[in-house]
Amino acid sequence: AQASRKELVDYIGQYLTEIRSRRVLPDVQPGFLRTLLPSSAPCEPEPWENILQDVENIIMPGVVHWQSPHMHAYFPALNSWPSLLGDMLADAINCLGFTWASSPACTELEMCVMDWLCKALGLPDHFLHHHPDSRGGGILQSTVSECTLVALLAARKDKILQMKSSDSTEMLSDSLTDTDESILNSRLIAYASDQAHSSVEKAGLISLVKIRFLETDEKFSLRGETLQRAIQEDRRRGLLPVMLCATLGSTGVCSFDCLAELGPICAREGLWLHVDAAYAGSALLCPELRYFLSGMEFADSFVFNPSKWMMVHFDCTAFWVKDKFKLQQTFSVDPLYLRHDNSGATDFMHWQIPLSRRFRSLKLWFVMRSFGLNNLQAHIRHVSMAKLFESLVRSDSNFQIPAERHLGLVVFCLVVSQHNNNNNTNKNTTLNNTALNNTALNNTELNNTALNNTALNNTALNNTALN
Ligand SMILES: *Cc1c(COP(=O)(O)O)cnc(C)c1O
Repeated sequence: AQASRKELVDYIGQYLTEIRSRRVLPDVQPGFLRTLLPSSAPCEPEPWENILQDVENIIMPGVVHWQSPHMHAYFPALNSWPSLLGDMLADAINCLGFTWASSPACTELEMCVMDWLCKALGLPDHFLHHHPDSRGGGILQSTVSECTLVALLAARKDKILQMKSSDSTEMLSDSLTDTDESILNSRLIAYASDQAHSSVEKAGLISLVKIRFLETDEKFSLRGETLQRAIQEDRRRGLLPVMLCATLGSTGVCSFDCLAELGPICAREGLWLHVDAAYAGSALLCPELRYFLSGMEFADSFVFNPSKWMMVHFDCTAFWVKDKFKLQQTFSVDPLYLRHDNSGATDFMHWQIPLSRRFRSLKLWFVMRSFGLNNLQAHIRHVSMAKLFESLVRSDSNFQIPAERHLGLVVFCLVVSQHNNNNNTNKNTTLNNTALNNTALNNTELNNTALNNTALNNTALNNTALN
């Protein structure tokens, strides 16, 4: 057993150091794997060597090598050795940290590391667990999609409780104290920009809260005026605005909604302001990249994925709320078998949809300590590579940059014009030579035109100093 443990660690090390030589995208068809495997599980144990051999022979040919430096599709999903080792340890401990008592270190390390991360990103103090004026705190969840749903459910609960309380007549003309919650639910509406991630639509599908997608300006940014107009229209229709999901760093073009304008409107109109910075959040590690932070003081919740750009591998989503009691009033259940003597302690089961939770903070803690904030910042500053790529694209008249570049994402398209005949599409452009060989790219749609976007930050294991 010991030999096989070491063998697999060596295999992983070799896989990651030599990944550059593997082809990023597999050449397989749907169903390829089934023909290579027996149709039922073996009755007798098989030798470890055979299993490991089949990883290389059967599994690897069907893998997309996301850690390859040639992988530029979607957004980065980086790992790093401290992260991998942290999760290895978490997997070995395999505690389920639903309550404080179910594994005190699991809950407490998460609270401390989430405070570290909150400070490292320059987020408001009201998101800190350990701060005299804060009612909030951070938690690690599995995905941004889940956190956006959690935020919407908490906003919905809060609004429904307000509607049922005695002063609800101020919000709507009739008294709603005895009205069924599903009927109140049907009067709610939430907002996001037309650039928002599909997970916002999904949260609406699940919660049955109507979502209205609002038009963005010429920079693909949602502006205050647009939100204000929508709120007025919907109130006239008898609806009750409940939440805005603002996007910082949209998936298609990495655009930023104008928090500085949207925040005060949400505060005035009683909307929960949820901020989705899934990819761009990591950039906040660098003070010079915090230009989109203005207005964050109005946010009721903020979410980003260290599992995208911060070299903490999936799953690791950081989610903060300003008022933890609004989460707890949404998700609290209290069966006898989960009660414990330290009822004042934090029980994260009341902050989330599932009961059980992994010890995710170990890998985040390992990463923050092994790199230090200085090296994490240096890693983010590789956005200079995206700048270089952008300048190469701009210098080639065959291509256009239809959306302003932010951070590591470059949106470009091939110009199809009369000049662009066979002669010069065949010429070896700078771009063809430098960037697009053996490279996985992504598609996005702007005004119904298919574009390529590429994220140039797949640099974790190769370019960042780790000592
Ligand atoms: C990647 C991304 C998401 C989805 O993240 P999951 O963690 O996979 O749910 C949501 N919003 C934005 C803006 C993203 O870029």
